[in-house]
Amino acid sequence: MTASATPTRPVPRPGVMAIEPYVPGKSTAAGVAKVYKLSSNETPLGPSPKAVAAYEAMAGKLELYPDGASTALRDAIGARYGLDPSRIVCGAGSDEILSLLTHAYIGPGDEGVFSEHGFLVYKLAILGAGGVPVVAPETNLTADVDAILARVTPRTKVVFLANPNNPTGTYLPFEEVKRLHAGLPPHVLLVLDAAYAEYVRRNDYAAGIELVSTSENVVMTRTFSKIYGLALLRLGWCYAPAHVADAVNRIRGPFNVSGPAMEAGVAALADEAHVAGAVEHNERWLPWLTKEIEALGLRVTPSVGNFLLIHFPGTEGLTAKDADAFLTARGLVLRGVAAYGLPQALRLTIGTEEANRLVVDALQAFMRERQGA
Ligand SMILES: *Cc1c(COP(=O)(O)O)cnc(C)c1O
Repeated sequence: MTASATPTRPVPRPGVMAIEPYVPGKSTAAGVAKVYKLSSNETPLGPSPKAVAAYEAMAGKLELYPDGASTALRDAIGARYGLDPSRIVCGAGSDEILSLLTHAYIGPGDEGVFSEHGFLVYKLAILGAGGVPVVAPETNLTADVDAILARVTPRTKVVFLANPNNPTGTYLPFEEVKRLHAGLPPHVLLVLDAAYAEYVRRNDYAAGIELVSTSENVVMTRTFSKIYGLALLRLGWCYAPAHVADAVNRIRGPFNVSGPAMEAGVAALADEAHVAGAVEHNERWLPWLTKEIEALGLRVTPSVGNFLLIHFPGTEGLTAKDADAFLTARGLVLRGVAAYGLPQALRLTIGTEEANRLVVDALQAFMRERQGA
């Protein structure tokens, strides 16, 4: 065997070039006057006006470095949820937090487990850290605790669970999450990604605060991108055991959260009426869309988030791709989820009343046209 030749240019670590770049939801539709972006689970109500004002107030101070410890924001989060601020870490979106956690605990050859249709960022983060992504099959498009536990090995360092999950909209009751935790060896970090927690209206759901508080190996991540409507600013956080918060703080950038994002986040947390309005909007339109779309003969996965998964028959003229083209031509931009192993589904974000009604009308026209009815 010959020794491999010295590379003639820099070569990334193993795993890096195996990453398929994340493709965000489309935001345009060619030749259409008005575009309804229903592809990224953004809130149709926008952020709190108080958050916008707090953001704008920072315009005169752009030369200043932000508080690298995000103190005011951690204090506000702590007060809002009854958490110890020293165990909160803030980041540039929860994506950054997920990436930091992965890099802190997964190295070359280590395994990270996530479920079949789980949020794609986990796989990207694991590969980026040189780790091995391990996929656990789901049951009825829902994470399966036994399947996840069956894939845990001595090399497993992190288990990721989006609860509720994106793009399926399904969730695990807290009892199931506790059973998952109870079955994990103590060296495995359980990451509970609760990006949509505020939307969930189920008595048997919990984002995971209790589990973080009572164990040494559970982290809950949250975001300001979804119900708070601050996706553009990139703001997220985690609540972690003290030793995990310490590890993440050591590897994060010293100024990883921008000042305007921090200020907007503090103001957004204080505007509870705005959040309540967003929950109310979702409670009205999520069931309405589910019912109307099912009435067209399409299958919809029951969702507890601010989005739902529509399944198309996949037959000639009735594929998810066909539907996507039909809807996009009408300015209705949904999200293809083939990268999630769901080639015949589209994910629809709950939009404004106008957008929601247009989607149902367009889907009805699509089904009529294609079924020749
Ligand atoms: C949208 C989303 C996030 C949030 O990402 P940010 O980086 O905070 O914008 C995290 N997890 C899941 C499952 C999501 O769908």
